Amino acid sequence: MNGSVARREGGLSGVRLRPTAKAHPGHSRTHNRSLVLSSLFHTGPLSRAELARTTGLTRVTISDLVAQLAAEGLIEDLGARTEARVGKPASLIDINASGHVVAALDLSDINQARGALVTLRGEIVGRATVKTAGAAGEAVLDHAAALAKKLIGKVSEARLLGVGVAAPGVVRPDGVVTYAKDYQWRDFALAQTLHDRLKPDPDAPVFVANDANLRALAEFTFAGASAQGLMEVSLTDGLGAGILLDGSLLLGPSNAAGEIGHIPAMAGGEPCTCGRSGCLETVLNRRVLGTGRATGSASLDAGTNPDPATLAKVGESTAAVLGPIVSAFNLSDLVFADPRGMFTPVVLAAIRDGLAQRLLPEIMADLDVRVSALGSDAALLGAVALVLSEQLGLT
Ligand SMILES: [Zn+2]
Repeated sequence: MNGSVARREGGLSGVRLRPTAKAHPGHSRTHNRSLVLSSLFHTGPLSRAELARTTGLTRVTISDLVAQLAAEGLIEDLGARTEARVGKPASLIDINASGHVVAALDLSDINQARGALVTLRGEIVGRATVKTAGAAGEAVLDHAAALAKKLIGKVSEARLLGVGVAAPGVVRPDGVVTYAKDYQWRDFALAQTLHDRLKPDPDAPVFVANDANLRALAEFTFAGASAQGLMEVSLTDGLGAGILLDGSLLLGPSNAAGEIGHIPAMAGGEPCTCGRSGCLETVLNRRVLGTGRATGSASLDAGTNPDPATLAKVGESTAAVLGPIVSAFNLSDLVFADPRGMFTPVVLAAIRDGLAQRLLPEIMADLDVRVSALGSDAALLGAVALVLSEQLGLT
């Protein structure tokens, strides 16, 4: 796989996240490999016999796969189980979490690009940041390449599994950014161009996806969320969402699923950057929630909650946009990724109240509305999840 930019047909689109059944004969090797890695990743250390039971594969197949994955440095033999057992103790196999690292870049903040070196278990072992304020077009790529090189320079013992990038805008599965307004990118081949800038040292594959989609993916891979019906709304420079439904990430025919920031949330609201007014982006932002100048209300002190009238309006207008989506897909998890800390419990409660007024009690009863625990690292961890998925079939 080294030396190539992701070209897998469809990327994450329609890919079943975390398959559990053994493969049909014929396309078994890659699938079975993912199955073994996935079992170890999610269940922890297992003996070969336990691996065979969990995956439904034969002992012989497991032994082959374990030998191959160990040779690649992806798994390790931990030796015999310590507790006393009858007979010969079975040795335990686990993911070799620190044997490989991913270089993850988050380009969703237009003022700074953030980067991290992350182990296969999502542990951040190095960080770097570059200022990008005002950059557009190729200049953003210069910053991204410099950041990636800084991170890769920190890799010592481990092998680099790949580079994952969380980018704003509409991103195709092959890493072409169809459109990103702030960076003035149109049909910009980000994955290919970044790969060309970095090679030959290293000649690592580069994968790119939309930042909001990646935050949803991180919630699933690293925060234990279900992928049956989850929408993660990202509150960053723009507002976007990632939707996991029936175990797959929704992209849509134009790869623009989850672009909900410019759905009208209220009549006669604030003017929006898109030229219209009252979009959801004008409701859920720092001006309204964080530092005052709230919609239709007097100013507030920074760090305080909006006044009750503003809160009610925020809850009502947010629910007007999100409620129909929750209903249409019967979502069970509505998660807000809030890297800037705008959402207080009071704001969340107002949104819950707004939703309760619009949704069937049956849907509302099963809906968990919460703020992501992944904080400002959600997009970085999503970029790691992207590389794990593309390179190892691991979600
Ligand atoms: Zn708008």
